[in-house]
Amino acid sequence: MIQADVLIVGGGGAGTSAALHLARRGVRVVLLERGLVGGQATGVNYGGVRQQGRHPAGIPLARKSREIWSRIRELTGSDVEFDPSGHLKLARSAADEAELLRWNTLAVEHGLRPRMIGRNAIRELYPHFSDVVIAGSLMEEDGSANPRLLAPALARAARKAGADIREGHAVTGLEHDGTDFRLLANGTRFAAPWLLNCAGFWGGEIARQFGEAVPIEKLHPNMLVTEPLPYFLRESLGVVGGGLYMRQIARGNIIFGGGRGESDAGITFTRPRPDAAFEVMRSAIAVIPRLEHAMVIRSWSGTDGTFADHFPVLGPSRTTPGLIHAFGFCGEGFQTGPGVGAVLSELVMDGVTDVPLEAFDIGRFTAAQIAV
Ligand SMILES: Cc1cc2nc3c(=O)[nH]c(=O)nc-3n(C[C@H](O)[C@H](O)[C@H](O)COP(=O)(O)OP(=O)(O)OC[C@H]3O[C@@H](n4cnc5c(N)ncnc54)[C@H](O)[C@@H]3O)c2cc1C
Repeated sequence: MIQADVLIVGGGGAGTSAALHLARRGVRVVLLERGLVGGQATGVNYGGVRQQGRHPAGIPLARKSREIWSRIRELTGSDVEFDPSGHLKLARSAADEAELLRWNTLAVEHGLRPRMIGRNAIRELYPHFSDVVIAGSLMEEDGSANPRLLAPALARAARKAGADIREGHAVTGLEHDGTDFRLLANGTRFAAPWLLNCAGFWGGEIARQFGEAVPIEKLHPNMLVTEPLPYFLRESLGVVGGGLYMRQIARGNIIFGGGRGESDAGITFTRPRPDAAFEVMRSAIAVIPRLEHAMVIRSWSGTDGTFADHFPVLGPSRTTPGLIHAFGFCGEGFQTGPGVGAVLSELVMDGVTDVPLEAFDIGRFTAAQIAV
């Protein structure tokens, strides 16, 4: 039996960041990951580090995380290719433009500094856009990072700080004996008074085992990447209403996404869908005509958990003291991963965090069920 202070299930961005923040505070932490750290959503996503477009309830968490991103190299001792190149969200209709203006007003109230780019300026500054683009909103401090690098970097730093991080350890047994959580993984037993549920989509199953069933669904964003092209796109791009996002990496390849891939029940890996790929290629060319002859060299997808209200579950369990949930980040949790780990460490060590978590409370589902 291995006794720890805190057990973490899941080695994505949330779990590895929590391990690092806790280990740096002298906590005995064990993280159990059934595959490789960053092997699921955190390692295969688009890499957007974006605050733009977030619901006001999610902005404080995104801001806390953005502050950590600005020192991610010092924190991890690694280069995760974080590039605050800006995020530009495009309007293709007057209604889209009104939506950007509405969000910008809200965002300013929440301490962000987006900037509207009007019809004339967008032509002048971004000659590669077609006429369908009529305006944009620029969040200069947003950008991107390399998803392959984040969780391994956080895990390396956590190990260096003393965390016990075990890959290839699927948690197959889970119980609470009234004092400690007792977990079984690879034939080894682990015990601790705290358990952090950072298991991504599969966090729903862990919550269910503690009497907190949640209506989580799988989310499989469809991703593509082109051959390297001459460099022309500095900002990461999105469009009002979603369905298309793209960025160009320094090597020249354009990574873009939109639509959904698919998966089979019981299998933890996913595949992209050709119909979604063709649809997003058409949308991309409509916005940037020069992409017409770009060759797509790879397509993929991944699994995140999502909820109808588009908020994650983040905060203490309502049934089991010592259990804290952090899962179901609805396709937006790469940016927030570093901040989620900080929040979890604060909840364990200080009992409070400066990030409002009401909207993310797991109790909202029970409350909704009672209301029905
Ligand atoms: C294709 C795609 C594109 C995306 N693009 C973006 C983007 O541009 N920007 C953004 O902010 N977000 C994006 N997201 C969302 C983001 O990737 C996720 O919200 C985030 O990475 C979730 O992190 P996590 O740590 O909660 O989960 P994960 O990264 O899924 O980690 C959970 C881990 O738990 C492990 N696990 C589960 N069950 C067990 C068990 N029983 N025992 C041991 N280990 C277990 C899994 O193996 C997994 O490694 C995207 C997601 C996808 C799939």
